[in-house]
Parts: sequence; C-alpha cells; structure tokens
Amino acid sequence: MSFFAYKNGEMHAEGVALATIARQVGTPFYCYSAAALRASWQEFADAIKGTNARICYALKANSNLAVIKLFGDLGAGADIVSVGEMRRALAAGIRADRIVYSGVGKKASELMAALEAGIGQINVESSAELEVLNAVAGQLGKKADITIRVNPDIDAGTHEKITTGRKENKFGIDIDLATEAFAKAASLPNLRVVGVAMHIGSQLTSLSPYRDAIVRVRSLIQELRTAGHRIDRFDIGGGLGIVYADEQPPSISDFMQVVGKETAGLGCELTFEPGRRLVGEAGVLVSEVILVKPGVSKTFVIVDAAMNDLIRPTLYDAWHDIVPVREPRPDAATICCDIVGPICESGDYLAQNRDLPPLSAGELIMVRSAGAYGAVMASSYNSRPLAPEVIVDGTRFAVTRPRPTIDEMISTERIPPWMVQAGQATKG
Ligand SMILES: *Cc1c(COP(=O)(O)O)cnc(C)c1O
Repeated sequence: MSFFAYKNGEMHAEGVALATIARQVGTPFYCYSAAALRASWQEFADAIKGTNARICYALKANSNLAVIKLFGDLGAGADIVSVGEMRRALAAGIRADRIVYSGVGKKASELMAALEAGIGQINVESSAELEVLNAVAGQLGKKADITIRVNPDIDAGTHEKITTGRKENKFGIDIDLATEAFAKAASLPNLRVVGVAMHIGSQLTSLSPYRDAIVRVRSLIQELRTAGHRIDRFDIGGGLGIVYADEQPPSISDFMQVVGKETAGLGCELTFEPGRRLVGEAGVLVSEVILVKPGVSKTFVIVDAAMNDLIRPTLYDAWHDIVPVREPRPDAATICCDIVGPICESGDYLAQNRDLPPLSAGELIMVRSAGAYGAVMASSYNSRPLAPEVIVDGTRFAVTRPRPTIDEMISTERIPPWMVQAGQATKG
C-alpha cells in the first residue's frame, strides 16, 4: 500500500494533507511517513524471525535523527561511515555495540573515536587500515572487533556510480588477496577478527548478484577456517532496490530465502545493512511551481526545489515519479515538460520530458521515492537553505529539521581580521 495517496482530491501523507504542511513549513520540504518506515522495517523483521541475524540501518541513506530513532526503537543497529554518523546513531539512542563502522578511508582520529565509544564492529577495507587500527587500539589498550570487507568482483547490474563490488571499484579487499589480509589481521595483537563483510552495490533489483557474491565469499570463509581463522559473522551489506518507475525489486522474504539457502550450514551470524530499502519509498519531496515557461520544443516548469535539494536525477540519471499535489481530473490532458529548479546549471532538473497535467504558478508537486539519498545529499549551493524535513505519523506531523534562516547560514562564516582592518582603512 502507498502511504502517500489522494484523499478528497488532495495528496496526503497518511492522514495529513501535504498542502497543510506546505502552508505551515513553506516549500520545498521533505516529508517522511512513519507508518511507511515501520512497514519497511517490519518486512525485514519478519523475514529474519527465528534466524541468527541482525539489521543495522545504513544511516547514510537518511540520517535524520527522528528516522534513526524510529528504527532504533524497533530494534535496529546502525551501519555508519563517519564519526558524524556515529554521533547521530548514539544521539538517537542506538547502543554503541550495535553499530557497525564501514568505509574505505577512515582516519586514525575517527578510528580512535569509534573505539572510545565502544563501537561493536569495524569493517576494515585495506591492509593499511589494519595497521592503523591495530596501532590505535594498542594506544587505547583495547582489542578491536573487526571484519574484513572483501570485494567479490561481482557486477551488481546497477548504475555505475553505485556499484561497489567489482575489481575496479575502490571498496573492500580484492577477494584474491583476502587470505593474506586475514593472515595479517591474525598476526596483529590488538585486533580480533570476527568475520567477513561484503557490500556489492545499491539499488539492486535482481537477486543473482547477491547469490553469486555469497557463493564466492562462502568458499572464502571455508578456506579461511581451514587456515585456522575464526569466522563467526558474515556481513552481507545492503543494496536492495526500491520502486522509482517500474522496477520490480525482489521481496525481502525472497531475498532472505536466497541468503538463507546460500549460507546454510555456515553457522555464521548474518548482518544486513539496508539503507535505501528502509527509507526510499517512505519519503517525498514537495515543491511549489514558481512559473511556467512555454518553449518551442517543450515547456519548462520551474519549481522551488532544485538539484541542491535532490541531486539524484542529475547525478545518477535517476527517474522519480512526479505528481501534482491537487489530484488531476482523470480526463485531464497532459503536456510534455521538464521540471527544473532555479539554479544556474543545465544539470538542474528533477525530471525531463515528462507528460504531466498542465501546472501553473503556486501549485504544489510531489516527487516520490525521495526518502533515500535525498535530504542527506543536499547542499546549500546558490545559498539556498537546506529544505526542512517533516515526519508524519497518522494525523500528526512535526518538523524534525527546520529550514535554516539566511542569517543562520551567514553567521557561521568569518571575515579574516586583516580584511576587517582593510575595510576600516579605506573608510578612514
Ligand atoms: C551505502 C551502504 C549501505 C547501504 O546501501 P543501500 O543501497 O542504501 O541499502 C550498506 N553498507 C555499506 C557498506 C554501504 O556503503
């Protein structure tokens, strides 16, 4: 079911009309449905029931505190890629021992902060990181629980900018070099190897890359055990796809069935790190039409959301469904248009060559499936304030991150003292 639907001719998030939020908060804004977030969590929870598995929500998809807390309260751990995300996970009440720290370039200071906080597992991605982590753990008198992330050289069949498990990608340790890395880890006194990790890409809509990757990692686990390593955990990563247009991503239960079958008998605790699948369809971006500019070949609908608010269309060639917030008549004619923002870049578009009912200035539009890699990737390019984030729960809604004022944005900057003096000098 969709948690964003027309009621009485008006698009609602659960029991709240988006137009009501727009009047109170202004546009553009992100809106998340708590019921949708719970429903996607429940799909995972049901699928792992009775198995030795845990789910660590990948914060980078949407690190809004309310969203993290909602999952944390339901029992989620967290997958983080920075100390900033660690602080968010902790602030949202997720226990440190339920946090997994991933990332290809962790600094010594970040590893130290993670160990000091008591992070449960660090997924190491290079031989150099093994040494740095060993040294940092030694300084703190701690032993770090680690997995080694291997790169299984599998094509995830997704957009080139979000595929991560091929040899030519920077992530993980080449599976052919993995035995060396495990031997090295075992020789370092302040590390305790607890398992193997992988993450092959994002927005996967087929199960076969997962199957192929697991088969490769499974035989690595067997080799490692023969060599005397203790491998208790298998971190499968995230990456499950969602619906943007007409994709048919696998159900979570089908996914778990494949994983269960391919890992049967290994006796490993499994970790899953879903991001997009938990939040993507649970969020939308709402924007107001500034003006409509008819052209010779097509019409440009210029709206107040732009590439700084949602960069996915221009960065990943992503297609997002866009609908008017006021329900169009079923027989309404459509025109071909580009939905674009006000930024001075040709890449500033939300949709191109889209057939939509004619829109006019002041009308609201809703961009679907914007809950993942939307607000988190926003910037304030053109000194545009970050769009606020709103969460709806039934008939309630709350702003979880307000729109900063321009004064707030400017007030964090400083004029160098010599320039202040120079200004005074010219005045005098
Ligand atoms: C990005 C990332 C995830 C989450 O990916 P999704 O496609 O959002 O599920 C999980 N694990 C790691 C290591 C990641 O880098």
